[in-house]
Amino acid sequence: MFFCVIIKLGDSMKIFKRILLFILFASIVAAGIYVYLNKDRWMNEKKLSEVLSEDKVKSIKENDDTELALSLVSSDSFESSNIDRYIKYSKDTNLDNDKVIKLVNNNIDKLDDFIYDDIILSLLDEEYYLYKNTNRYMNYYKEHKDLKASAIITNVNSNIDYAFYTHTHKTDLSKGNLILVNKFNYLDEDYVPDLVDIDSEYGDWGSLTPDAYEAFKVMVAGAKEDGIKLFSCSPYRSYELQSSLYHRYGARDGYDKADTYSARPGSSEHQTGLAIDINAADDWFNDTVEAKWLADNAYKYGFILRYPKGKEYLTGYQYESWHYRYVGKEVAKYIFDHDITFEEYYAFFIDK
Ligand SMILES: [Zn+2]
Repeated sequence: MFFCVIIKLGDSMKIFKRILLFILFASIVAAGIYVYLNKDRWMNEKKLSEVLSEDKVKSIKENDDTELALSLVSSDSFESSNIDRYIKYSKDTNLDNDKVIKLVNNNIDKLDDFIYDDIILSLLDEEYYLYKNTNRYMNYYKEHKDLKASAIITNVNSNIDYAFYTHTHKTDLSKGNLILVNKFNYLDEDYVPDLVDIDSEYGDWGSLTPDAYEAFKVMVAGAKEDGIKLFSCSPYRSYELQSSLYHRYGARDGYDKADTYSARPGSSEHQTGLAIDINAADDWFNDTVEAKWLADNAYKYGFILRYPKGKEYLTGYQYESWHYRYVGKEVAKYIFDHDITFEEYYAFFIDK
């Protein structure tokens, strides 16, 4: 009997030990699951307390925004100085946190009357996106929903959401060799640049700015080495000369037609002294070896083909294989390599 009790006690101890072991094991597993489920939250709480002041964390808690703040802080793009704007924009729009952070980081929440649309996110990713144009992109997009984000950016940066010769401004002369003259940016009637006369070896008449002339001479020499003969056909033109040309064309072809190939006085690049028509200002020049050489090589000397084929809607001019504009080698190479117009380059890099 005594022996039996000892055996039974021994069994009970075993069972007790097993139960203890099981409880221990279950506790470890439960603790593990608890840690696993809460580790992100703890990390976010830690991060929040690290990036925000104590007072800010307290005020977020008082406003019942802790959960929202914790979910925002986990983003890699989270910027602590924007926390109040994230929270407000998130509540105003009910967008995903990633979208909220991206839009606020790009100051979209600061725009007046801005209505969110998914297109804005793709616009922000575009290489030539400009914040100052955001409302114009959106308005343009509403009228052109078939266009890709890149086209919306290009077109608006080039002002073609406006009609030509509207929203005109006196151009910024401080830009030197990079001044922009087109159907939105004009020169005063009395603007005359520094000019040097072109030697008869390089053309029959006229003048260019010293920089443009020097570059042109080097280009002529470079072309000559390739067996190509270049000369100036029409360089600097005064306001008065452009005026008489434009009105002559207008009287002959009608002003709507004249506007496609001739600038209104004050809006001609030729008045800058930085533009030059080379060899011939006529469509027959398009298929010549000289035109081909220029298209392939002019950028090496600092000149750009100013009115390229297929970009008429951006430049406001028909393709002109003969009209080159001096902008300097670095800018010319960028424009050539990226196949953009001077309008696009100017909007993004110069007119900041
Ligand atoms: Zn020209």
